[in-house]
Amino acid sequence: MPLLNDILEHNTAFIENKDYQNLITTKTPNEKAVLLTCMDTRLTELLTRALGFKNGDVKVVKNAGATISHPYGSTMRSLLVAIYALGAEEIIIMGHKDCGMGNLDVDSVIDTMKNRGVSQLTLDTIEHSGIDIQRFLRGFDDVTENVRTNINKVYNHPLFDKSVPIHGLVIDPHNGALEVIQNGYEHIKQ
Ligand code: ZN
Repeated sequence: MPLLNDILEHNTAFIENKDYQNLITTKTPNEKAVLLTCMDTRLTELLTRALGFKNGDVKVVKNAGATISHPYGSTMRSLLVAIYALGAEEIIIMGHKDCGMGNLDVDSVIDTMKNRGVSQLTLDTIEHSGIDIQRFLRGFDDVTENVRTNINKVYNHPLFDKSVPIHGLVIDPHNGALEVIQNGYEHIKQ
């Protein structure tokens, strides 16, 4: 059965059985934090369980590689809004080992686009409009370095309140073990 049908069938039962009742919470994070992490499939339930969060505890922003690719893009906006409007008082940036964005083969991604119908003319037009497609798609070489780079992007953002701690973590997607890259409490400006 196609996925959407499965989802809708499950949802009907979910509502009928009132399975949502033990998940009811508010939009303000109980643990007063916002977490930026990767969209990796292994970090769905493992993520919250390994960190000890339950529904309602933390705001979660996810993208490919837990990366802030633009200082005025949607990821940075989400972090700023979480801090200034939605009750978050700390930021956690968490990369993970074995990330699909680590050493991503951009040429291969572009070849796949071409094989699926994106023309060279389209790619050339995008390049001529000033967008470097290689740079747009590129991931990172080292997850620890990527976490540090993103911490610095937030910390040095002109709209960031430097009294907000930014923690840097790397999680092992196999067993949930955490490595601390930065303890944000040691870097806040009072
Ligand atoms: Zn990842």
